Amino acid sequence: MSLRLSRRNLLAASALLPLGLRVPAIAAPSSGSYRVGAFTVTPLLDGLFPLEPSMIPAAESQAGQALLKGAGLPATGPSPEPVNAFLIRRGERHWLLDAGCGTVLGPGFNRVTAALAAEGVRPDQIETVWLSHLHADHAGGLLTPSRLARFANAELVLQEREVTYWSDAAARASAPAALSPMFETAQAVLAAYPDRIRRVSGEAELAPCIHALPLPGHTPGHMGVLIVDGSERLLIWGDIVHSRLLQMPHPDWTVIWDTDPAEAIATRRRILDRVAVEGLSVTGMHLAASGRIERAGTGYTLI
Ligand SMILES: [Zn+2]
Repeated sequence: MSLRLSRRNLLAASALLPLGLRVPAIAAPSSGSYRVGAFTVTPLLDGLFPLEPSMIPAAESQAGQALLKGAGLPATGPSPEPVNAFLIRRGERHWLLDAGCGTVLGPGFNRVTAALAAEGVRPDQIETVWLSHLHADHAGGLLTPSRLARFANAELVLQEREVTYWSDAAARASAPAALSPMFETAQAVLAAYPDRIRRVSGEAELAPCIHALPLPGHTPGHMGVLIVDGSERLLIWGDIVHSRLLQMPHPDWTVIWDTDPAEAIATRRRILDRVAVEGLSVTGMHLAASGRIERAGTGYTLI
């Protein structure tokens, strides 16, 4: 569970916290809903995150610069990446998968509540929030600016390993100081929902037709959510990629926030391969689209 961050990466991480610089303006509303059997899945765009190549250190290379330039971006970045939560509905039931940044990462985010309102959903109608993991861009939105629970009636559901890690004083003490705000946010979230936290382990059923899929490495309890209704399936894979542009062709390129980079690479390769073989539809917290995955050279592509 060591955090393998170089000094240079730590500087990048501390520059990130708090965010607020170089956040691009957002024009796009939520990008539309998907039907999965009887479920409606709606991405809720919380904001755009300016991903710098230094946050994926292997991208500070000719290969990385070529990819950025090829996408019409400056060769030195940043690459604007979406931060999504997902509203999942079936009949009168409303669930949320992740909650965006809230106000904990500075201005430019905190649009989930407005995106929910645009769908005609109030925060108190959310019965459960499933959390892919406890990083601030996924869990910060569970808090009001005064760090109270934003979702009055929601139970939080997450992997046991995730709760254990972010609650662990020793893990916090051994983590780089620059990551202290991540622990602060995670612990504030757990404290704001006392008696409303349900821990699951492994491939638990989260609701009928909805399953947890452990995808460890980015964090110890990082998980995706797989919706299977009849012949229709969608995997919402959390943070398997932070940059479609950089990490799909290069699955071995890790982000500086991975708790265990080697495990994160192995998990990314395993799930990309499975999704490609099974023809599974996927989307993610940092993907602007949903689609299927195909092998392309030594990497993959989203189609
Ligand atoms: Zn994330």
